[in-house]
Amino acid sequence: MAPDVVPAQDARLDRERVDLILSGGWVITVDEQRRIFRHGAVAITGDSIVAVDDVATLAARYHADSVIDTTDMVVMPGLINGHRHLLTTPKGAQPDGNVTLVNLRDFVYPTFASLSEEEMHAYTLHATAEMIRFGTTTFEEPGCIHLPAVLEALDTSGIRCRVGPWTWDQGGVAGANCPDWLRMNSDGALRRLEQGLETVRDFNHPLIDDAVTIEGVGTCSDELTIAAATLAKEADSLFVLHKATSEQEVKLELDAFGHRPVEHMYRIGALNEHVFMNHVTSLDLFEVSMIAESGAGVGQNPSTALKLSKGTTQTGKWPELLAAGVAMALGTDAENASNHQDLCRSMYLAALLPRDARRDPQAVTAEQAIEMATIGGARALRLSDKIGSLEKGKQADVTIFNTQDFDWRPLHNPISSLVYGATGYSVDTVIIAGDIVLKNGKHTRIDVGEARERVEAIDRNVLRRLGVSPTPAWPIVDDPDH
Ligand SMILES: [Zn+2]
Repeated sequence: MAPDVVPAQDARLDRERVDLILSGGWVITVDEQRRIFRHGAVAITGDSIVAVDDVATLAARYHADSVIDTTDMVVMPGLINGHRHLLTTPKGAQPDGNVTLVNLRDFVYPTFASLSEEEMHAYTLHATAEMIRFGTTTFEEPGCIHLPAVLEALDTSGIRCRVGPWTWDQGGVAGANCPDWLRMNSDGALRRLEQGLETVRDFNHPLIDDAVTIEGVGTCSDELTIAAATLAKEADSLFVLHKATSEQEVKLELDAFGHRPVEHMYRIGALNEHVFMNHVTSLDLFEVSMIAESGAGVGQNPSTALKLSKGTTQTGKWPELLAAGVAMALGTDAENASNHQDLCRSMYLAALLPRDARRDPQAVTAEQAIEMATIGGARALRLSDKIGSLEKGKQADVTIFNTQDFDWRPLHNPISSLVYGATGYSVDTVIIAGDIVLKNGKHTRIDVGEARERVEAIDRNVLRRLGVSPTPAWPIVDDPDH
């Protein structure tokens, strides 16, 4: 009897054809077993991952017309930004030295109120280009205006997103701080949220999911908060809000209700597994257990916490939230609060700030920081069935780092180099749903020069309208003839 062995030649002929193979280098999968392939490869067809394995095994089973040589690269799941506003302000122009509520009243809200549909489109395109440049493939937009224009720009960029309309009823404990801009009552706000779901669903884009987005931070009534939490659950969406963002906010709620912001959410029945709370820089242990019990997700924005002096190292409970199994995301926030969109910097801070705060070198590990920027973010955004890890059947969202420079080298442990050393500028290639949106550091879908020119012109107009002239404290010497 002939041996039951397929000759090598036939095995090659039998190889399955895929669209794209990434071959060589470190592949950090963040899969169930958290496998890292030293000489790994990823096979992609259409918008999905077909296989992840070592180079030899994968090459024996698949061939592709298009192969990206990822030797000397680190291949990982696309980074997920849990909090990135598109409704934003000119970068670096917010005057330094004020507390959040003053910044919001005098600078942020007046800017928002002045933005046209065309300006929102331009800001969106530029912001998505910036995120992609630093390896972000998915982000959560916590409430924008001119939603149809935003959706158009998102489609152009090719990025994955959850988005909803900026909504509040100015009825919470900090309602007095709200401007006249976008004034609405609870019913109007709820209708706006329902309309937002409808607008995003009607747009019917494979990369864009809806969100039920209220501002929070004490600017929304209990009635609206409860209705929004219920709406998100019933519509299988995500309820996104800012919560427990400062001691000032905590004090307002303690004075008004006798308990803290997250506990208040729990008591009024507005905490469930469809809730995603951002910042959460002030918590007590009782609130940690309420979040864990409810299944809600939490997103931290370490750059914002530092720049806006939130006290996250004193009153944050990041190690406890992780230990309790809460789905945690990392964000960069918007220009007023954070001048960069680099999730590498966020991972660095997320891993290190709690260690100093607790004087505990194991408070948050490098691996946990990577999880927050990938699978944790995916869980918090309720998208982990699709993204967050490199696994067969998941969407082909991939971030590829070039490791040739000092931020990565010498390279012995890719986890350590990524979290403690790498910068987002070492991102070489970004793939979203199988589409290469950044190649060798260059955008394939967005004209970055044009996007930047538009945004800088809009910024100048916005600042003129506001009467703000952003200048450093030091004197600027300029040539009068220039
Ligand atoms: Zn925000």
